[in-house]
This record gives sequence, C-alpha cells and structure tokens, in this order.
Amino acid sequence: MAEPQQADRYAVFGNPIAHSKSPDIHQAFAKQTGQQLSYERILAPVEAFEQTARSFFADVRAKGANVTVPFKEQAFAMCDTLSERAKLAGAVNTLIKLENGQLQGDNTDGLGLVSDLLAYTVLEDKRVLLIGAGGAAKGCLLPLLEAGVASIDIYNRTLVKAEQLAAVAPHRCQAVTAAALAQGYDVIINSTSASLHGQLPEVPAHIIAEHTVCYDMMYGKAITLFNQWSLEQGAKASIDGLGMLVGQAAHSFNLWRGVMPDVAPVLSLLRQQLETSA
Ligand code: NDP
Repeated sequence: MAEPQQADRYAVFGNPIAHSKSPDIHQAFAKQTGQQLSYERILAPVEAFEQTARSFFADVRAKGANVTVPFKEQAFAMCDTLSERAKLAGAVNTLIKLENGQLQGDNTDGLGLVSDLLAYTVLEDKRVLLIGAGGAAKGCLLPLLEAGVASIDIYNRTLVKAEQLAAVAPHRCQAVTAAALAQGYDVIINSTSASLHGQLPEVPAHIIAEHTVCYDMMYGKAITLFNQWSLEQGAKASIDGLGMLVGQAAHSFNLWRGVMPDVAPVLSLLRQQLETSA
C-alpha cells in the first residue's frame, strides 16, 4: 500500500465548498475498499476555476476530481474528452486524469439518481415525470432512458427549457405544460431547486396516485417540502436526494479506482450524521 505522502490525490472544487460531504464519503469508500488516497475540498475563486483545477492536476499525484456548483459547465468546457453522459448533460461533475495527462469529463449525477431510485422501484417501462430542466435534470435524462423507462414528461416553469431538453430524445421525452400533466405518474422526480427557497414547484395533486414513487434531489436534516407534500397527496414513497449524492460519488470512485463501493453503509452513516447535526 502506498505511503500517505505518495497516495493518489483527489479533490472536490466548488464555491462555496466548506459544506461538502464528498471528502467524508470518499474516505469512507477508500476505507471500505482498502485503498490509500487523499481527498480534499478546494475552494475555487468564482473567476478562476480552470486555473485552480489546472494547478491541482499539475501535481503528478492528482488523479481525479469532483466538481460542484457553480463550476460544472466550466469543467465541461476544459475537458479534452467527454463521455456521452457528460455531452448530453453539458456539465461535468467528475474529472479523470488519463495516463497521457489529458482530462476526461464525465457526469455521474444521473447514475447516482438511478441507482438510488432502483433501491425503491423498478424503472423499466415506467411513466416518469421530471420536474425542472436545469443542470441536474439534463444529467439524469440519459441514465433514466438507459434504465428502460417508457416515457419522460418534462415540466419546467420556463417551458422553453423543458422543450430543449425533451428534443434530445424526442421518441420517449416530451415537454408538458401544467395543464397537460397526466394523472398518477409511476415515478416523479423533483429536480428543481425550489425546495432550497422554501417553495414547491407548481404542480397539481392529481399527478400523484397511490402507486407513485416520488424523489426530491434536495436533502436536509428536516424532510424536504416536496417530500412532505407528495406524501400528503398519498404517494407510495417519497425519497430525498442523499442517496443520489452518495450514489454519484460511488460512480466517480469507480471511474477513478476501478472498484464500485457499497453505497448502503456510507449512506446510513451520512444519514446519521445529518440527523444529529446542529
Ligand atoms: P439549476 O439552477 O441548473 O436548475 C434549477 C431548476 O429549478 C430549473 O429548472 C428552475 O426553473 C427550477 N426552479 C428554481 N426555482 C424554482 C421554483 N421556485 N419553482 C419552480 N422551479 C424552480 O440547478 P441544478 O439543476 O444544478 O440543481 C437542482 C437541484 O438539484 C438543487 O436543489 C441541487 O441541490 C439538487 N442536486 C442534487 C444532487 C444530489 O446529489 N442530491 C446533485 C445535483 C443537484 P427555471 O428554468 O424556470 O429557472
């Protein structure tokens, strides 16, 4: 096993970054899989993300990084090569330094969402409603389609963004207005940041039936507004985004280290930390 000072380096870049749980998650994965690595939080100045990332990757030990708000599009722009998922998302949350020093960009957010959802429901042939059409929604489209869903209705308060996203896969996706929302979807995913602002997306209650599984990408110590609202409307289950966070990290770890960690124990640990946090 490598000495700590020779261990491969990883990091997460964001602004702000102090709140990031990624170092805890990756250290837990490293321990679980018996790997020696370091993983740090790096606060990149808003105007100097690329410079900060390049200076990190100039270190021979730097092998990969995660990227969070507000730099995912800039990370996309600086990559030498991109996965199909990243191309479709137009955003990169995982940077991988290749043997030749080039940077490969990927997006594991949607993979994290799909792995987490699969712990609660089958996705094959399901009718999905995706609320929101921002970066997170874009990152989820391909992984959801690859999971075999029958259709994805996309609803966003700014319709044109839903239309642009739906146009990527018109055979199975369509943008819908509030008036055209169907009754009782199988799966509803809230990818808006409305909960962050203490708001709910404006959707009618009839989208939820007793078989509906709801998902809010947000998470927090208290139940999110959308999780609470959907349960009140009679949803079968309503899940928050903590599992997506751990899931996207697991897929990044797998891309870097070639080993897929077990998400469940790390998710329990994080849930416990969140519930007992001040
Ligand atoms: P973006 O800023 O790219 O997109 C925000 C989306 O939310 C847009 O569709 C926007 O609509 C919509 N929106 C914002 N406020 C409201 C509101 N009050 N009512 C209705 N719609 C609203 O953000 P991201 O896509 O990057 O992130 C979205 C959420 O997902 C965030 O809460 C983020 O924390 C979470 N997330 C969670 C992850 C996890 O691992 N759990 C990973 C990534 C994201 P419009 O287009 O009209 O402005």
